Amino acid sequence: HLPGSDETEPEFYPTLAVLQKSDPTAFKLFYHHGRSTARWIGDTAKLIGDLFLRMLKMVSVPLIIASLLSGVTGLGHADRLGKMFGRTLLYYVTTSMLAIMTGLLMVNFVRPGVGNLGPVAAKPQAAVAQEAQSLGEVLYEQLLNMIPTNPFASAANGDFLSIIAFTIFFGVCTILVGGTAADRINEFVEALFAVMMKLTTLIINLAPIGVFFLMLAVTATQGVGIFGTLGWYMLAVALALGVHALITLPLILRLVAKRSPWKYAQAMSPALLTAFSSASSNGTLPLTLTCVEERAKVSNRVGSFVLPLGATVNMDGTALYEVVAVLFIAQFNGLDLSMADQLIVAFTALLASIGAAGIPHAGLVMMAIILQAVGLPTEDQALIIAVDRVLDMARTAVNVWSDSCGCAVIARFESEGDATSQVPIEGELNI
Ligand code: ASP
Repeated sequence: HLPGSDETEPEFYPTLAVLQKSDPTAFKLFYHHGRSTARWIGDTAKLIGDLFLRMLKMVSVPLIIASLLSGVTGLGHADRLGKMFGRTLLYYVTTSMLAIMTGLLMVNFVRPGVGNLGPVAAKPQAAVAQEAQSLGEVLYEQLLNMIPTNPFASAANGDFLSIIAFTIFFGVCTILVGGTAADRINEFVEALFAVMMKLTTLIINLAPIGVFFLMLAVTATQGVGIFGTLGWYMLAVALALGVHALITLPLILRLVAKRSPWKYAQAMSPALLTAFSSASSNGTLPLTLTCVEERAKVSNRVGSFVLPLGATVNMDGTALYEVVAVLFIAQFNGLDLSMADQLIVAFTALLASIGAAGIPHAGLVMMAIILQAVGLPTEDQALIIAVDRVLDMARTAVNVWSDSCGCAVIARFESEGDATSQVPIEGELNI
């Protein structure tokens, strides 16, 4: 790819300059062929990359429905709801919001998308329109849109917020109905979830190919400067994840659960390392359960309730990552999102992290929701897909770490007045 005009560019390429002087016809032939070949490669790469992106989009609606329904109905029988459910949800939402705030602060501080690349796309119309609305109006609309008038239309349109709301209602009512009706639904949901996970895993196996071609297309149009910008983006995600995992969650563990964060992390280390290397909370779940119960001595009652739900619903790392990634894309487009838009990003990131499945790259699939909510081009996901694997590993480890800390927190309250599930706080294991 030779940038710039035909007249000035050869100065930077001495061999071409010589050719231009000695044989202008040969030069023109060589130069123009080179340019059209580069364009052909760029177009083909974009086609293959887009096919991959479309496959990711293809699975998102059924995957979210199956994953979320399986998480909600996995709560089991109505008698297991109640206090533990309330506390668990409170923990999930609190830690996710803390993670989101950390992400927001970090991305506004590092500003990874602002740089020499400048605005590369026209300002999206939807974002312009939204800026004219007040915060109240925007939130009012978001809230109203959460309740679908026709859930099938929402599914068909990929209207994720209403899909998530309806799925939660459906799941809770399945538990309330109970009996054979619930058993049938559960059986179907588990089967659907297994199949959707299989399909998603197969598509994700194509990720190296998709990523390669997407990057080829991106570098052909953007130049190699993109890597510099992505470096800052990765740093912003990593720093924010670091603050959440090494400061926020340990503080909660120490102050609320009265556990030694270091020893608890040691007990959880096999699960955390597996989460990091596999980038899948779901895949790690059996190990997380074992570590929590066997090594960290949390009761099975708490572990078997908090962890499976958490693997699907509680994703601090993913929520944080969504916020940083979306604001990075906004900055990259030369958009300074207003307070109202940033609040929408935070809120939808929370919902997206709840809806994301615990499998590799699920966070990337969910990002379209947030981009749509603030009117950013969803194609811009292609920018960050190349570095998603390594960030996915880090955020998955944080997701599993937050679920594990949640077990200690819930166990602390559950053990009050219940001698059988007493958790050793500073006991012989001293974890
Ligand atoms: N891979 C993550 C997980 O399994 C989800 C994500 O992509 O953010 O927890």
